[in-house]
Amino acid sequence: MIYAECFPMDDQRRVKVCPYCGNKKFSKKSTACIVCGHSRMNSCIGKMYSHANAGNARYCEICGEKTQFFVDGLLKAWDAGNESSSSSIKEDLPF
Ligand SMILES: [Zn+2]
Ligand SMILES: [Zn+2]
Repeated sequence: MIYAECFPMDDQRRVKVCPYCGNKKFSKKSTACIVCGHSRMNSCIGKMYSHANAGNARYCEICGEKTQFFVDGLLKAWDAGNESSSSSIKEDLPF
């Protein structure tokens, strides 16, 4: 797995690089990774809704539920410290 502060996304809020397996080849309409099957969206895990969130979102900006990337451990909690920041992937944050 890739650990990062933020996962770069396209204008559809889909990751450009799969955070689970590192796959970079996606078709324009794909919403899931063809290699590992994970969603490319950082959707919240709300029971009623599923909102697409930014690549650094731990919690949904709409409903406050946790996001999939946070639940899966791809994103650390905001207060988890950054002791392993040196091991994160290269800095190409779009923000
Ligand atoms: Zn994948
Ligand atoms: Zn939500």
